[in-house]
Amino acid sequence: MRIVMATQNANKVREFAQLLGSRVDLVLLPSDLPKAPETGETFLDNARQKALFYARYVEDPVLADDSGLVVPALGGEPGVHSARYAGEGADDRANNDKLIRALRAKGLRAADAWFACALVVAHKDQVLVEVEARVDGMVHDAPRGDRGFGYDPLFSPHGEARRFAEMSSEEKHRFSHRARAVRELVERLPFVIDREGRSSTGENALS
Ligand code: IMP
Repeated sequence: MRIVMATQNANKVREFAQLLGSRVDLVLLPSDLPKAPETGETFLDNARQKALFYARYVEDPVLADDSGLVVPALGGEPGVHSARYAGEGADDRANNDKLIRALRAKGLRAADAWFACALVVAHKDQVLVEVEARVDGMVHDAPRGDRGFGYDPLFSPHGEARRFAEMSSEEKHRFSHRARAVRELVERLPFVIDREGRSSTGENALS
């Protein structure tokens, strides 16, 4: 089945395509569409807002995601502002530096944290499925590793001394919020598709 990914970011599409495997033909959003608003207070709100916004413009179901890092000791920051924590257009380095400063300002060398990933698939004006998954761990006040992106150099999942930025992408996916959310989505999508009458085989369209 074909799903339109609600992003212009080819890296994101590649990562989701890798996680979804050959069951889904994931395609990029047409480049001439307006940018969806992202004004929700939760990851799910934002993913739903994006999926429903773009589903009005394309024929196929649209998959939208929203993700970020939550640090309870910092009042839940960076949260839904993860991508722009250090300001609009901030890069990963600036966001990481701000997080380190915020931890140190509280006298913390490390703190409990989790990454969350919300995924919503919408078709036309209807939400077909929503899932949210998280990976619990710790954030630290000094970066390690040079792989991955975003806050990966500061985050270690529970049960691992290494940061996400010290792992290969396959190792990271064993833990990651995104991989967990995709697994859950893949489990639930076939039922939704059958209900919608969109299954090409009449059986499990994702198998
Ligand atoms: P989004 O594109 O609006 O979902 O922004 C997500 C932001 O959260 C990214 O820009 C990163 O800063 C952060 N983030 C989400 N997932 C990860 C991850 O797997 N590793 C590191 N940072 C992440």
